[in-house]
Amino acid sequence: MINFYILKLIYEIYYLRFLISERFSKDLVNSKIANKFIKFNNKIVLKKIANKKLLKVSILLPHCIQKYNCNLKITNNIENCKMCGMCDISDFIKIKKEYKNISVKVATGGTLARLYLKEYKPNLVIAVACKRDLMSGIHDSFPMPVYGVFNEIINSPCIDTKVSIEVIRKVLREVGIE
Ligand code: SF4
Repeated sequence: MINFYILKLIYEIYYLRFLISERFSKDLVNSKIANKFIKFNNKIVLKKIANKKLLKVSILLPHCIQKYNCNLKITNNIENCKMCGMCDISDFIKIKKEYKNISVKVATGGTLARLYLKEYKPNLVIAVACKRDLMSGIHDSFPMPVYGVFNEIINSPCIDTKVSIEVIRKVLREVGIE
């Protein structure tokens, strides 16, 4: 395993390169550096949690996954979702029911997400977000193991985004949760 300070430095360099590249990029969705960093980070996370008991796992979702015109308040409690199937939130209710050690939280912003993680203190976070939120979230949460998954931008960022539940189930298998 890479030394803590070297790892911290690598994260800082990636983040700085990302911020610089974003200043000159008009692409709202893709970023080569973000893709590279998330791959690197996820490998580190898998090494960190190998052979560890994952008693508390937290899936963090961005608010834009919820159907834009759904009025239900799911940020306080995801179980307020009526599972109509119009957005991917209903799949996460199923995941929550299936796995007792997994909590699912819909975050309205980075500050609230960080506060939640500070209080809940999970052994592993699986964070779904766009490139900017994922980059800043993982960078700011270091050294907490945060496995990153990009959400899919269908029409425009921040509205009706998606995440395939199959991708999440694959991650759960990868981290050893069956
Ligand atoms: S699945 Fe339906 S009820 Fe649940 S958050 Fe999405 S749109 Fe709202």
